[in-house]
Amino acid sequence: MIKGSCLCGAVHYESADLASPIGLCHCRTCQKAHASGYNPTALAPRDGFRWAKGENTVAAFESTPGKNRWFCPKCGTQLMAEWTDKDQVIIRVGSLDTILDQQPAVHIYMDDATGMLEAHEDMVSFAESFPK
Ligand SMILES: [Zn+2]
Ligand SMILES: [Zn+2]
Repeated sequence: MIKGSCLCGAVHYESADLASPIGLCHCRTCQKAHASGYNPTALAPRDGFRWAKGENTVAAFESTPGKNRWFCPKCGTQLMAEWTDKDQVIIRVGSLDTILDQQPAVHIYMDDATGMLEAHEDMVSFAESFPK
């Protein structure tokens, strides 16, 4: 069992353990939905997923016919996506509160990838925000 929630705390979910490696998704719709270069994502069984809080609050956007992206309409956090005809859901790994042992293992939708990954190895890093 793993648990996740949105930024404002209005929506919580519980899920059975992940059923796939964690992938970094570079698709264009993830870039837009998450306002990010890519999005950590993984599959979990649909019958193991439930909204633990905020079931009447959480909203969906159908980004592709048959694909719903569920998010909190108060704070905007992306929580889960689903193809309505599939028996697995797509967990937005960044919304998990459970600390996972797994690291991302694959890249998906590299045809849409921006240049945001390439510099990672050599980048200067800071514990918090930009230096003053
Ligand atoms: Zn929220
Ligand atoms: Zn994607």
